[in-house]
Amino acid sequence: MAKTIITAALTGAATPKEKNPALPVTPKEIAEDAVRAWRAGAAIVHLHMRDEHCRGTMDAARFKETVERIRDSCDVIINLTSSGELGASDQRRMEHIIALRPEMATFDAASLNVLPDGIFDNTVGFLTKLAATMKDCGVKPEVEVFDLGSMAALARFLETGMLEAPVHVQFVLGMFAGAPATPENLMYLKQALPQEATWSALGVGAAHLPILYTAVALGGHVRVGLEDNLYFAKGQLATNESLVTRAAQIIRAFNNEPATPAQARALLGLKPR
Ligand code: ZN
Repeated sequence: MAKTIITAALTGAATPKEKNPALPVTPKEIAEDAVRAWRAGAAIVHLHMRDEHCRGTMDAARFKETVERIRDSCDVIINLTSSGELGASDQRRMEHIIALRPEMATFDAASLNVLPDGIFDNTVGFLTKLAATMKDCGVKPEVEVFDLGSMAALARFLETGMLEAPVHVQFVLGMFAGAPATPENLMYLKQALPQEATWSALGVGAAHLPILYTAVALGGHVRVGLEDNLYFAKGQLATNESLVTRAAQIIRAFNNEPATPAQARALLGLKPR
């Protein structure tokens, strides 16, 4: 039976807690939600940190506390962000990766305009340092692709050897300046993947469901969670656990199985733990 990896993106860096009180903010809350997501079928948790005002922060101490709490409780694969604090230096975006050596971390293949007036800033200079750091620390990049432009950048990074095949790609669809989250766009992007790549997809907001179903149907893996979407259904707020539980149900209804962390490690070429 085919195995489908569920990644739970628990909190992100942007959404205020007022919009959904279930959003985990402190290291303890984030770690507790990680364990709930793992119990519900997630093999990977993707983590951001929030400061005491709920703003995105790259604070390495918060990452450390959260990662230690999760590692004490379960064997879920930990995927740390390399972004999520406005204006953070290149070094600050990598400190926690160097200190904690997670199994995976995000590598955003391009920069994007973000609302209301910002830039999600991923220069080639930063990405070169990030790729080298991940290689040194034994961290597998999750390459976030937003559209065909970032896919073209990924192809170049593989050509130059900055990244090594087989890569794992996360299609992040529905960003303000990225490809809209439609099944058609996902199908087109999927056929343009580098050979041997593994891949997963998410849709932002209400589009999380069509992207989830399309990713499962196309043989990909899936990401769900409050970073990407706050609602379970129209007018009904979600929790991380409810979103992972539903993703696992959809995967089973398709006659696949949610991958365990051990199975996900094998699929992604990570060392067994
Ligand atoms: Zn993220």
